[in-house]
Amino acid sequence: MSGVGSMEPQSDRLAVVPSELLPPRSERRHLLSVRDLDRADVERLLATAKSFALSQERDTKKLPTLRGRLVVNVFFESSTRTSSSFELAAKRLSADTMSIKSSGSSVDKGESLKDTALTLSAYDPDVIVIRHPQIGAPQLVAAVTEAHVVNAGDGKHQHPTQALLDLYTISAALGRLEGAQVAIVGDVLHSRVARSLIQALELVGAGVLLVGPPPLVPAELGEVSYDIDAIRDADVVYVLRMQRERMLEGANYVPSLREYSARWCVTPERLRPGQYVMHPGPMNRGVEIDPRVADSAEALIVDQVRAGLVVRMAVLYDLLTSGRVAVESAFAGIA
Ligand code: ASP
Ligand code: ASP
Repeated sequence: MSGVGSMEPQSDRLAVVPSELLPPRSERRHLLSVRDLDRADVERLLATAKSFALSQERDTKKLPTLRGRLVVNVFFESSTRTSSSFELAAKRLSADTMSIKSSGSSVDKGESLKDTALTLSAYDPDVIVIRHPQIGAPQLVAAVTEAHVVNAGDGKHQHPTQALLDLYTISAALGRLEGAQVAIVGDVLHSRVARSLIQALELVGAGVLLVGPPPLVPAELGEVSYDIDAIRDADVVYVLRMQRERMLEGANYVPSLREYSARWCVTPERLRPGQYVMHPGPMNRGVEIDPRVADSAEALIVDQVRAGLVVRMAVLYDLLTSGRVAVESAFAGIA
């Protein structure tokens, strides 16, 4: 029987990546919410991301690990960091990528999310990364396709890879996560970043305090303080963007942005020397964060963007292989 194979023209066989060179197929897992993870998952993902960070210091930054795999990015909301870092993460792992934005696609013509998902699944993607303004959109895509699905932000619900890159950044700055004190300041109400990060910090044993004006800081999400001076006790001050696009028209969350900024803007005067400051971006300088803080040596904002690349590499890698045990093999062939 082996004779049949050997009669195939050589060039045809070379066109296909032999299946033994691909990472093993794992059961179909998704990353839809931080709730999908336990502490061991988080530790494995952060360790994998750290290995990838070392690979990014080499001259040749590309790893062959996910050669032959297809990662499709579908973004129904604007994004700079998340969409570009998923795309680069997939490329650095040698996967094929395809990026679809809602403007200029059939979504503009009223195609339903289900039909878009079914159309994309005809290309047999291994991973679909999706951002959508509706809560639960990633679950719907997971239900109608065969791909592993990663939630890159659904409404004000979840943004799990942001939470992972934030943990990575905090751990790199403080040298620990357990017992770290993080104050999350500002528009918690509309923030998927806050919802994911609160769960992730609790998972790793860090303390969280939510700080801001009462209409923007729901008490059911955790321990709250309505006094900006409370941020001084934290190791890390995590500033959220005022999400005006998610605020209901006519609702009076704050009297005015000017007043918000006067009472809640994170300024050098409100910080203690040595406190780290984070922001998921995009920043409204002068509204929630003082430019002097954003540009200070204690700001970890660029570190967060850098962490976004290696953490997303780790997530793609983890979903498509059996996890940390195989990290060494990710580097095979690039010695
Ligand atoms: N929304 C931010 C941006 O556009 C970050 C993100 O994509 O999550 O860069
Ligand atoms: N970039 C983050 C997000 O997409 C935070 C923000 O937009 O304020 O949720």
